Amino acid sequence: MNVKFIDVCNVFEKIEGIKSRNETTSCLAEFFKTLDTEDAQILSYLVLGRVAPSFVNSEFNYSEKSIVNLLEMYEKVEKRGSDIKKIREQTGDIGDTVYQVWSLFGSKEKSLALASVYDELWKIVNTTGNGSVDSKNAIVLKALKSFSPLEAKYFIRIICGSLRFGINYKTLLDVFSFVASDDKSVKESLNRAYGVCGDIGYICSKVVGFEKEKVIENLKTIEITPGIPVLSRLVERVQTFDEVFERLEAPIIVQPKFDGLRCQIHKYSMSDFTKSINVLWSRYIKKSEESGLFESQVDSTIVKLFTRNLEDVTEMFPEIVEDAKKINNDSFILDSEVLGWDGKDFLSFQDTMQRRRKYGIGDLKKDIPVKAMCFDILYLNSVPLYQKDTKERVEILSEFSTIGSIGKAETVEVSSSEELDRIFQENVQAGFEGVIVKQRPGEYLPGVRNYEWIKLKKSMMSSLVDTVDLVAVGYYRGSGRRANLGVGAVLGALYNEEDDVFEAICKVGTGISDDMLKQIKTSLEGDSVKDGLQNVKVPKSLKPDVLVYPKIVFTVEADEITKRIGNGDENIGCGLSLRFPRLVEWGRDKSPSDATSVKELSSMFENRKK
Ligand code: ATP
Repeated sequence: MNVKFIDVCNVFEKIEGIKSRNETTSCLAEFFKTLDTEDAQILSYLVLGRVAPSFVNSEFNYSEKSIVNLLEMYEKVEKRGSDIKKIREQTGDIGDTVYQVWSLFGSKEKSLALASVYDELWKIVNTTGNGSVDSKNAIVLKALKSFSPLEAKYFIRIICGSLRFGINYKTLLDVFSFVASDDKSVKESLNRAYGVCGDIGYICSKVVGFEKEKVIENLKTIEITPGIPVLSRLVERVQTFDEVFERLEAPIIVQPKFDGLRCQIHKYSMSDFTKSINVLWSRYIKKSEESGLFESQVDSTIVKLFTRNLEDVTEMFPEIVEDAKKINNDSFILDSEVLGWDGKDFLSFQDTMQRRRKYGIGDLKKDIPVKAMCFDILYLNSVPLYQKDTKERVEILSEFSTIGSIGKAETVEVSSSEELDRIFQENVQAGFEGVIVKQRPGEYLPGVRNYEWIKLKKSMMSSLVDTVDLVAVGYYRGSGRRANLGVGAVLGALYNEEDDVFEAICKVGTGISDDMLKQIKTSLEGDSVKDGLQNVKVPKSLKPDVLVYPKIVFTVEADEITKRIGNGDENIGCGLSLRFPRLVEWGRDKSPSDATSVKELSSMFENRKK
């Protein structure tokens, strides 16, 4: 039987009140067990505040301001005496505002099915172009009129992007394991499947309604598919060249370490895509230029570019798309790093990042051309390659013909620390950040970080610590000139994988220009939270002026990892802190759960002590 949207909202309400992650997992698992496949898929996207996976352009583009305006207009008609802006201020949350206002208006719940609400959500997504604000408002108001206050609350939170359960895909994979077997025993199969197919709804369709054995069998059939991003393989760090050979057997593979934007290049034909995978969202996606995925009957060859955060960045790099289409192979998946390129040299990371925008690409394309430097190949001419040894994949890549804005990493093999030192110095002199060394045997393990791939960066060699990726969980208003900008420093947190919480470790206020501070203010102010969040821990000594929802990842460099002197809260972030942290990049292409973990920073600290 089809589930009602109100049942989903009741579960959301329950989750909001739950403190422990395990309880959230089992609450969601019990609910998923009662759903049919399609409802379960819809729910798996909705819990993440979406209608499709993140690599499908399906944003609501609907702001809190729009809903406040809409409610004010409606109040003028209904005349219930509610002061919308005041309620918004008092509640501090757009969902709670709508709940209160809708309670006053006394609307009648029509018990819409989840699937019908999903249709409405897609209508909002697919309303674009001139006059879209009015059209979206009309859809939202019509939907609201058929909702109870609770349904209205969650509908609005979803479309305004403020459904803040702190649930990510990792939590959902845990949930699916409990759905299949009431424990975590299916997690490994789920991780593998999600690694090659980053579509949580598709994974869900292979779990719900099946017995454990069948689930495991189903998950095994999930294969790498061009058009669906693969989780990026990650790298470990070591301190010395000798340590590389303690970890890996000689000879090892060495490639330059490019400092740009991680980018997967997928080329495929639409007919092959639809034959190989049947995804729920493909029914809804606008068959137009905007979605890209299903466009163009004439030229059925599609090229898509994805970041390591599974974001579709195809529109950002049209020259790579053009050149990928020219390459003489029908289908492939390449793993690469995109860098600014002036025809002779690679540009700095900061210059490259200017290309990381979706609009106004025309001029930038001329001013800052880019080159995708491929270092791995995962799929070629309809054949998956990711399970082959790294050595074999690198050989296949060396035979692969690239052109124009698509190039290849130069790969060498070395057998001793001395040789590695020499190659490392050569690469640094050639302008690279260092090298990445790889073990010859071993498949491409999506999303995995282990010592089979190791980075050696020049910054790490000069006895500084490696850069650290922190999640912004608050900010300080600052004093003097900075007070006028509204932000003086940001509070950064590490990710604690075991407990799924963010643990604040330091205040970052250095290395930030005024323009950047303004940008930081804009990106954080909409995400402020009134009370503390269950999944964020802050030591008393670091209490910020404003707490924000953990969403943005930023990179810092520091002189040293230090131990914080606490007042009973030394356990937060293992009591670690950074000495003189400086901002390197704001708004990384990483999700909060991909930030540096407490475990990683602890092991960096221990290594440095040694
Ligand atoms: P993380 O370790 O989480 O990836 P990060 O994003 O700060 O942290 P870096 O310290 O820059 O990463 O080093 C790892 C990254 O280097 C890889 O994720 C990849 O994007 C990039 N990279 C550059 N050249 C290569 C290469 N030849 N092989 C593999 N990865 C490379």
